[in-house]
Amino acid sequence: MTAPSTDGPLFERLALIGVGLIGSSIARAARAQGAARRVVATARSAATRRRAIELGFADEVVDSNAAAAAGADLVILCIPVGQSGAVAQEIAPHLAPGAIVSDVGSVKATVLRDMAAHVPPSAHLVPAHPVAGTEHSGPDAGFAELFVNRWCILTPPPDAEPAAVERLAAFWRSLGANVETMSAEHHDLVLAVTSHLPHLIAYTIVGTADDLAEVTRSEVLKFSAGGFRDFTRIAASDPVMWRDVFLANKDAVLEILGRFNEDVATLTRAIRRGDGETLFNLFTRTRTIRRGIVELGQDSAAPDFGRPHEGLPLAPLPRPYAADSE
Ligand code: NAP
Repeated sequence: MTAPSTDGPLFERLALIGVGLIGSSIARAARAQGAARRVVATARSAATRRRAIELGFADEVVDSNAAAAAGADLVILCIPVGQSGAVAQEIAPHLAPGAIVSDVGSVKATVLRDMAAHVPPSAHLVPAHPVAGTEHSGPDAGFAELFVNRWCILTPPPDAEPAAVERLAAFWRSLGANVETMSAEHHDLVLAVTSHLPHLIAYTIVGTADDLAEVTRSEVLKFSAGGFRDFTRIAASDPVMWRDVFLANKDAVLEILGRFNEDVATLTRAIRRGDGETLFNLFTRTRTIRRGIVELGQDSAAPDFGRPHEGLPLAPLPRPYAADSE
């Protein structure tokens, strides 16, 4: 992980609105790296705020979004994207002049539109999306290393002040992330392919298997290691967050889904016609993509996504079960 800053914290008062997986991970990482002098947190429910106090990842846990934002030089909304506009409106009158207001939402164009309507010109709106996460939610799920060697995409509006964008980029770099900047629309198209469609497919497959449970009885779970199990991990992701993602990124998701449906139709035809060459060529191309992801350090080449299972040997099984190149 990046060494702690020697020049003092980048921000005096970091306000985190929402302290679930992402918000509490930012709090933990910012503290570990000395990126903010003081971390102030809040959440919608008293139960989550109480848990945040128990876990102790913030210097202060306050009762309202307005109280968290007041006097902060960096405010980050870590809440489902459907709430961004309402919360921006709530905190707007309390923002300090020069404050940077950001978020971590998985969709950017609608968030930018919804927040920009409320953030005053005296503050700097710089939306962001750390492309890092797990299928778990809530303050207990967070950890300081979540962003290390992961990308954080900034989507500043065209008139954003470059110094504010750079300051936020420096913050994310200090948490271990690599930073890239792009337009909100481009972000939404890229993420529709790399994240939103895969989640939709996982939700669909797990739902279909569940609908077939009558036919297959417990065999769906028993034989899940045949591929199904990896879809269930993705399909365990937070329902509120993902409902909001699909509603907010409707256009890009529908565009990519149209392409996907055409490709499924091509494969359906190939299977029906016994066209093994089409299947083989596609599967060869996709295997190369997987290897590229491993080479870029975005996943481990270890079997089973690098997660050892209790009772199983940690070392790879001898060939032919594990190929040398994997
Ligand atoms: P999470 O674990 O469910 O946490 C959400 C937090 O937001 C909770 O603390 C919740 O408080 C709080 N909250 C909701 N509405 C609020 C409001 N109106 N005012 C104040 N607090 C509010 O969710 P998450 O996984 O951290 O996701 C948060 C954001 O990060 C989402 O926009 C998501 O798109 C984005 N993101 C998620 C991932 C991922 O893998 N999970 C990755 C990258 C980005 P209560 O508990 O009191 O309801």
